[in-house]
This record gives sequence, structure tokens and C-alpha cells, in this order.
Amino acid sequence: MAGDMVVVRREGLYCVPGGFYIDPWRPVERAVITHGHGDHARVGHGHYLAAAPGIGILKSRLGDITVQSLEYGETIEHNGVRISLHPAGHVLGSAQVRMEYGGEVWVASGDYKVEADATCAPFEPVRCHTFITESTFGLPIYRWEPQQQTFDDINAWWRRNAEQGRASLMLSYAFGKAQRILSGLDPAIGPIVCHGAVEPLNRVYREAGVALPPTRMVSEVDKADLKSALIIAPPSAGGSPWVRRFGDYSDAFASGWMLLRGARRRRGVDRGFVLSDHADWPGLMSAIKATGAERVVVTHGSIPIMVRWLCQNGYDAKGFDTEYGDDEAEDAAAAGAAAEGATGDRAAENPAAPELDAVAKRWAVPDKADAARAAGTAAARPGDDEGNSEGKGDA
Ligand SMILES: [Zn+2]
Ligand SMILES: [Zn+2]
Repeated sequence: MAGDMVVVRREGLYCVPGGFYIDPWRPVERAVITHGHGDHARVGHGHYLAAAPGIGILKSRLGDITVQSLEYGETIEHNGVRISLHPAGHVLGSAQVRMEYGGEVWVASGDYKVEADATCAPFEPVRCHTFITESTFGLPIYRWEPQQQTFDDINAWWRRNAEQGRASLMLSYAFGKAQRILSGLDPAIGPIVCHGAVEPLNRVYREAGVALPPTRMVSEVDKADLKSALIIAPPSAGGSPWVRRFGDYSDAFASGWMLLRGARRRRGVDRGFVLSDHADWPGLMSAIKATGAERVVVTHGSIPIMVRWLCQNGYDAKGFDTEYGDDEAEDAAAAGAAAEGATGDRAAENPAAPELDAVAKRWAVPDKADAARAAGTAAARPGDDEGNSEGKGDA
């Protein structure tokens, strides 16, 4: 075809021959939704198309919508465009959108993660000519430990708190991250309590066949038992009257951004666990390679840095300016500011942190102005990826 199959319009990413949008941020007639996070799935569209395992989530979050479901790998045709959805490994029901028209194939990734986990179908590479990729953690410093390491660390933190008669408050995004943490908890340590914003999503996951340990509402647990409980609540609950009932507690936050000491300090919690539902830098690179695509379009995250790196490595790459947010940073500023100063000595837990912070200063932290500055810095440090000693992460 003459022009690009997918372009950016005022309303969102638009499939030109298909006449539909992908995760549009303004109301449109036809929307294909990659997953249920608020910045990708919005109210007000005429018709929704989404992967079958994510329909329960969409309905619980968007209410009464007209939605058509598609099994992973199933194909439909719309205005001559063959559309199919493929697992993105990000959250329950998350999908990449494959579009084929006139012999050309485009894939829009939505948000994705390449390490498989117990709460959703694993990421599946899809061959295409043009791959539209997210880039939330698109910097070489972002490298995740295997998730089991993080789960072990979380359980050890919980066990120690329980032994000392202190509740463990885990602040986490209510959809996706909360259920992933649940899937890694050891229920033998104590009761698991979920905030009212988290429990309805647990229910949708269980109805979809995802095994989660038993969870209770706070009202169902004796006050004495709360001292050995792990409580999962959204970040906005941090420092609120709701958490005062736990008396003495230790709090923690789980996100990819917790790799950066500056982000942990701003968060103002006792512990920061590095756990992301997005691909790290090696994950992004391996996913892009596995598509076999020659053209890559980079969306929300570290656009200039990834575009530059991809061009230097032989790809035809460019960026799309989108209005997607950051599901890992939601409420971060609010809750962090509330507890500023209560952080204690985090460097002792994390010897690599000062070094990483120095890197972070030169590269990026998750806000737009900083990312722009980091892009300028990156231009002077081309191809700084594999084998970069600064990127080895903090175990
Ligand atoms: Zn997301
Ligand atoms: Zn996103």
C-alpha cells in the first residue's frame, strides 16, 4: 500500500484501510483494545474489540460497553484488513494486534512483557513487516532479575515483619501487578488481605481460571492476625486513614521504577521491590528481533533513545507520539510525597543503588522533561547496551 497502514490521529493510533483505532484516547466509533489499563481502555467508544480473556476486566472497569471478543489467534476481517490478537504477557487479556492488508503485516504491541508469569498467557512473538512497540523501560539500565528472585525477597520481607509482629503493606497497582504479586506469595506465612479496590479484580482473575492464594477483606481478619498479614492496597491508600488500623507496619512498593534509588526515595516506602509488567531493555530488544520486522515504530516511553539505537542497528525506526500513561507510576507522586522523609537507610539494602542513581541522572527518570534531557545525553553515548557495566542492575 502507498502510505503507512497505521498512523497517529488526534483520537489515537488509526488503521487507515481498516477504519478503526487501537487504544484510542478520544471517543471513536471502532476501537481495538490491547488491555484494560486505564490509559489504553477508555469509555465512550461505539464498538470495542478485545481478546476474550480480557473481556471480564474491560466490563468491570468500563461498565456496559458494546464489546466483541476474539480468542487469541482467531482472525476476523474488517474492511479488507485481517485482524487477529496475540498474547502480550502484560496483564490478563493483554494482546498484540496483528493487521494484514495487501500482503503487508503490522503488529501493534500495546504494553508487553516477555518473561512468562502465572497470571496471563505468555508473550508470543508475531512475525511482521512493521512492529509498533512500547518503550516504557527502553533504556539499557533496565534489566530485571528473574521474577522468582523478587517473589523470594517479598516473602522474606513479609516473614521477617510477621515474626516481629508487624503488618506488611504492599502498595501496588490494583489491576495486574496486585494479582501477579499474589501469585508469588507464600500463604503459609500469614493471612493475605486485599483492599476493596483490589479484591474485585482478584475475582475476575479467578473467574478466568487464574489460581491465586486465598485473600480476605480487612473486616474479615482479627486485629491480632493483622500483625502477621500481608496487605495489598493501591498506592493511593498509602498514608491514608485506611492504613492506620494496621498500627505498626512496614510498607513497600513494587515497580520497575524501584530500580532507581531516586524513585524509591520519592516513593517514601520502607522497601522498593523491582517488579515490572513491562519488558526490560533486553526483553524489548529480543521481542523486536523475534518479529523479524524491518520497520519499528516506538511509542510511549523512551522514544528518542530507542529510535536512535534501532536506527544505528540497521532498523528503519521512528516514533509515534501517543497519549498513553505509565501504569507503573500511577499515584507515585502523591503517595511518595505523603511519606517523604520516612525512608531510613535504603542504600544498605542495595549497594548498587548509588551507582545506578548516577546513571539515572544521566539517562532518565519517568517524567517527560527528564526523558527529553536523557535523550540529549543518550545521543552522546551511542549503542551503549550489551555489556554496559552500569546496566547490570542491583540484585
Ligand atoms: Zn498497561
Ligand atoms: Zn501502556
